[in-house]
Amino acid sequence: MSKNNIQKTTQWLEDRNPNQPEFIQAVKEVFGDIEPLVEADQDILAEAVLQRLSEPDRIISFRVTWEDDAGQVHVNRGYRVQYCGALGPYKGGIRFHPSVNESILKFLGFEQTFKNALTNIPLGGAKGGSDFNPKGRSDREIMRFCQAFMNELYRHIGENTDIPAGDINVGAKEIGYLFGQYRRLKNRFSGALTGKGIEFGGSFLRPEATGFGLIFFVKDMLDRHDQALEDKTVAISGSGNVALHAALKATENGARVTTLSNSEGCLYVEQGLSTEAIKQLIDTTGRVDLASVAEDVNGQWQEDAKPWQYPCDIALPCATQNELDEDDAKALVDNGCQFLAEGANMPCTNDAVATLNEAQIPNAPGKASNAGGVALSGLEMAQNACFNPMSYSQLDEKLRSIMKNVHQQCLDEHKHDDQWINYRQCANRAAFRRVAAGILA
Ligand code: GLU
Repeated sequence: MSKNNIQKTTQWLEDRNPNQPEFIQAVKEVFGDIEPLVEADQDILAEAVLQRLSEPDRIISFRVTWEDDAGQVHVNRGYRVQYCGALGPYKGGIRFHPSVNESILKFLGFEQTFKNALTNIPLGGAKGGSDFNPKGRSDREIMRFCQAFMNELYRHIGENTDIPAGDINVGAKEIGYLFGQYRRLKNRFSGALTGKGIEFGGSFLRPEATGFGLIFFVKDMLDRHDQALEDKTVAISGSGNVALHAALKATENGARVTTLSNSEGCLYVEQGLSTEAIKQLIDTTGRVDLASVAEDVNGQWQEDAKPWQYPCDIALPCATQNELDEDDAKALVDNGCQFLAEGANMPCTNDAVATLNEAQIPNAPGKASNAGGVALSGLEMAQNACFNPMSYSQLDEKLRSIMKNVHQQCLDEHKHDDQWINYRQCANRAAFRRVAAGILA
């Protein structure tokens, strides 16, 4: 009966969302993993629950008109997908990238709903953004774009209703521009955005939180297999905030981080990047140019290459959705990779996941392993609400314990004695139980 509900809802989802492959991929992954719950949990698998999870609460779409430095006017499209408010106020990042469309933001809002549930902080799930491409734009152009974006978004957000943060191409600088405009329009301070600068209501550890949290999660994965990070070779993709802070934390724990990448190619450093080199990359203003630093870090730059072709013990895809496909997963298996944890949201394709599972490589989904960012955002909201900032070490301890708890929730869903644990399935089931309970409450 409930299995039937999943099949019926999947068909309904596909019929209603033509040309939205990322969204369908994300929902189907969760539906596939909860199917075995059928016998035990009839209520939460009711068709009405599955349907509600397959349709966002609300999609706000708006025009963003802004002027470039030469005085030319441009029009972009802005969005906020308030995906599910069952567990608390909507929460999730804003992404500026030419690939942004409804399918991508719906998949991200869906994933965020489940991720936020795993943090145990009362937060619903959302995502927003624009097809605006900040690459090559001046600071003032980015500022004007952010202000124009907020001129519309401000009516839909607030500290108790919807609290955006950063995501790809939206960091502290862009949050600053967005927050400044929000404050001007509302004429009051409120913690309606997270990821703010430390000078105006931001939190210590927020920039580091996603990458550091990822490494905390990996440490717990390794610990379960009586292994440690020390001397492990780690391949990381991406060169943004998540990738660089994961690289830093891994290196500080004695691991050898041999790769970083961007859409043009891969930097390979056989002996591993030094903490100093990673810190310098973190301090770079603007986009990190990996090709030009290759020589300084005794590495090689390879155009059009991906990190997964090099030998590693641990793979951390931290760039973007569907960046790691079946061939990449096969290369990882052949090269002796033993663990994978996602720093990005849904970086592994379904076929890649199947390959990793078949080889029994524990692979953690982003909704569990990259939950540190939104968890720290939750702590920023708490600090704003009571006007009482926490210290770096207090926050570090809290982040550590939240990630431990996310990992433990995965273990709790692992119902048999096999050493190999399907992290993805366990995370999906644990999160689904909570969200479904919220919907039914
Ligand atoms: N964009 C981040 C994520 O994917 C953070 C969201 C937030 O802090 O609200 O989880």
